[in-house]
Amino acid sequence: MGSKQKCAICSTEVEMVFNPMKEWSIDGVLCGDCYSKKLGEFYPGDHIRVNKKED
Ligand SMILES: [Zn+2]
Repeated sequence: MGSKQKCAICSTEVEMVFNPMKEWSIDGVLCGDCYSKKLGEFYPGDHIRVNKKED
C-alpha cells in the first residue's frame, strides 16, 4: 500500500479520503470530518447558500 494522503485542511493522515467539490477551491483530499464540515458550510439546512464561517 502507498503512503497515506493527508487532509488538505487539518493535515491528518486519512485512509478514507473524500474529494472536495470544485466550488470549495480546495487542492487535495479531505478527511471525513472536514468534508462534512465543509458540506455544512456550503449547504446549511435546506437552504443552499454560501455562508462562510471561519473557526
Ligand atoms: Zn481534515
